[in-house]
Amino acid sequence: MKPAPFAYKRARSLDEAVALLGEHRDARLLAGGQSLIATLNMRLSAPTLLIDINGIAGLDRITRNNGSVEIGALVRHAQAERSADIARHVPLIARAMPTIGHPAIRNRGTLGGSIAFADPAAELPACLLALGGEVEATGPNGKRVIKADDFFTGLFETALAPDELLTAIRVPAATAQTRTGFAELARRHGDYAIAGLAATARADGKGLSDVRLAFFGVGATPLRANTSEAALAHGDIDGAVAALDLEPHDDVQATAATKKHLAGVLLRRVAAQLMEAR
Ligand SMILES: Cc1cc2nc3c(=O)[nH]c(=O)nc-3n(C[C@H](O)[C@H](O)[C@H](O)COP(=O)(O)OP(=O)(O)OC[C@H]3O[C@@H](n4cnc5c(N)ncnc54)[C@H](O)[C@@H]3O)c2cc1C
Repeated sequence: MKPAPFAYKRARSLDEAVALLGEHRDARLLAGGQSLIATLNMRLSAPTLLIDINGIAGLDRITRNNGSVEIGALVRHAQAERSADIARHVPLIARAMPTIGHPAIRNRGTLGGSIAFADPAAELPACLLALGGEVEATGPNGKRVIKADDFFTGLFETALAPDELLTAIRVPAATAQTRTGFAELARRHGDYAIAGLAATARADGKGLSDVRLAFFGVGATPLRANTSEAALAHGDIDGAVAALDLEPHDDVQATAATKKHLAGVLLRRVAAQLMEAR
């Protein structure tokens, strides 16, 4: 199918992009286009204007600041996948990256686009939540920060206002105590996950603390599993699986019962990763 007609503008600055979003309430930002163009072609979305943000300088950087790592909205998946800083300081994202689509998609797709799009089966929103990170949003009143726990508000919905752009994400840099776990089940490598789990924890003596589990593909948003987190912090894997209170719905990939079963399988795999090399 072909998209409905739309106008196109290339924003040269953040101010220009914000002003255009304010003037054209049904406009869409164009980043890597790897999700947006498909939704236009399928006529799931018919904006009258695309605002291309690829020409805005400074949004494609990965920087370290005071114990955190800032990843600009226009950092491509492939750039993050090859980044020594991401490998060293954000190993959870490094682990997740090869499971996102295929190389051609990762060459164009951006971290900002993936998180703003908020596909419930996408890896990066769950990673941001598991890392306890935050989103920097820029709008007509300047910048504001939204915690990952508050960012994903519904199916493909976020706390971004219609006239705001996601300009960066910030996540804590890993320390020697940081443990990460990541697993997903997909029909073929590169497909969206049927179910997945991203996790972080802190090695604490012989145990774990600050466990954060973020499931994806099993609800409208990435989902924390607080009771299971507490059980894992006590080393109780069976208890963590028994406490899983996810309520997935059937989708085109699997039934709710299958997804619930797979979430338990993933939790056991990820728990083993978190406890490894403790
Ligand atoms: C065949 C195929 C397989 C894929 N498999 C996976 C997969 O396994 N896992 C996965 O996570 N993704 C997958 N994707 C999607 C891919 O990761 C996308 O790149 C990503 O979801 C969106 O990033 P983008 O930069 O392409 O955004 P775009 O497609 O340009 O934009 C997506 C949406 O986000 C908005 N947006 C973009 N940037 C911003 C911003 N800075 N601020 C506010 N809003 C913004 C746009 O307006 C649009 O509504 C796949 C895509 C394809 C085509």
